[in-house]
This record gives sequence, C-alpha cells and structure tokens, in this order.
Amino acid sequence: AIAIRNVSKRFGSFTAVDNVDISVPQGAFLVLVGPSGCGKSTLLRMLAGLETPSEGEMAFMGRTVSDGTRGLVADAGGRDAGLVFQSYALWPHMTVAGNIEWPLRVAKWSKADRAARVDEVLGLLGISALKERYPAEISGGQQQRVAIARTIGPKPSILLFDEPLSNLDAKLRIEMRSELMRIHRATGATSVYVTHDQVEAMTMASHVAVLNNGKVDQFGAPLELLENPRTTFVATFLGTPP
Ligand code: ATP
Ligand code: MG
Repeated sequence: AIAIRNVSKRFGSFTAVDNVDISVPQGAFLVLVGPSGCGKSTLLRMLAGLETPSEGEMAFMGRTVSDGTRGLVADAGGRDAGLVFQSYALWPHMTVAGNIEWPLRVAKWSKADRAARVDEVLGLLGISALKERYPAEISGGQQQRVAIARTIGPKPSILLFDEPLSNLDAKLRIEMRSELMRIHRATGATSVYVTHDQVEAMTMASHVAVLNNGKVDQFGAPLELLENPRTTFVATFLGTPP
C-alpha cells in the first residue's frame, strides 16, 4: 500500500510536482502517465527516496517514509523498495548470477538462501541459461531481465519502474509488458510504473494517474478514465476526445 498525501516538489521557483494526493492498496499496479516534463520521474524519485518532497507526506504500508518537515524519514535503502530504471546498469565484472546475488549479500542473506533465490528469480525471468555469462555477453533485452531479477531478488514490497522498456524494440517491449505483470503478481508487490505511453498505461494499470504540469489531472481505473475523462487534456492524451 502506498499513500502520497499532498506532495509537492519545487526546484527554486519552479514546481515540478504540484500537490499530488493519491493512494493505492497493496498489490496495486499504479501507472503514472503523462507527457515529457510533467513530473513523473520526480514523483517516482521521491517515492524511491532519491528526492525529498518540499511538502506533503509519503507512506508505505502505513509507515511514513518522507514528509515536508522531516525530509527523508527512511532513506533509499531503508524503504523496502526496488527500483528499475531505463538504463539498467549491471556490474560488468560480475556474472549474471553475481549481479543478482549482490543485493542479497548486502541484505545479509545466508549463502544457501542466496543460491536458492538466485535460481528462483532466474527461472521467473526465463534466463536460467545465462547464469554464468557476463553482461557484455548477453543482449540488451536479456540485460534488462537481469536488472529486473536483481531488483526483485530481495523481495521488496514496493517496485518502482521508470520507463523500464523504452530502450527495447516494439516486439520485446510488448513481451516484457506481460512479463512485468506476471512478476508483479508473483511477488505480490505494490508497483508504481512511469511511462509516457498511454497504451502501456491502459493495458498494465490497476490504477492510473494522468499527470499534466506536475498536477494529477485524473486518477482512477483505466476504464473509468477512458469512458469518463474529466478534462480535455486527459481525453486528448488518452486519444478519446469527448
Ligand atoms: P520525461 O517523460 O521526459 O522523462 P518526466 O515527466 O519524467 O519527463 P521530470 O523528470 O519529473 O519529468 O521533470 C519534471 C520537471 O522538473 C521538468 O520540467 C524538469 O526540467 C524539472 N526538473 C527535474 N529535475 C530537476 C532538477 N533537479 N532541477 C531543476 N528542475 C528539475
Ligand atoms: Mg522521466
């Protein structure tokens, strides 16, 4: 469960995220969608603990992780959240298995538990055969699967994605959408997924927030937004002019 309560982010006099107030239950797949510069990444970075909100509060499972007075109540490492960015930098000197194992070491999992979990997530992503390869020896799409496996390894209860598929070709992107949905369901996590692609938003989301100039123009179920767009911006952006 994620609660974002009246959160704003200002850079100098510019307001990048403007009084965003949305909450989703555990297991939700929240998609933040909107045009370039509308504040999607800034909002996600605040959820990740990489930016401090200027105002408002964020809570994961009822636990406050940041607010406008105390700043980061939990830092990026203390949020039980996993991040997948557009550029999925793997450690080049480590094998696929080594990359996936690393965060488990950091989290002090036992050797036996680490080995079992590495095999489990490799299987989940369909990349067991790549276990002993190095990042330079696998394709971009495969690297991205490894990055996702590495993120879900420690079983975070919140998954944060910032346009994770935008570097992939159209065919792989569509394949990876269902892959991500499958992983989301298998892990039982609450996911927040940033995209500027309205088709991606509508096919993946349980909840959608359409952002426009830092503000949430509309928040709801995908069908609700399609059938009943509240503003011209939402209607035009979703391609359903009233
Ligand atoms: P895109 O789809 O292009 O990734 P976005 O919706 O993710 O866009 P953000 O990266 O959140 O947009 O940026 C929102 C606005 O805030 C933009 O106008 C951006 O220039 C501005 N911005 C972001 N980070 C900073 C910063 N550190 N300092 C000043 N302005 C910033
Ligand atoms: Mg962005």
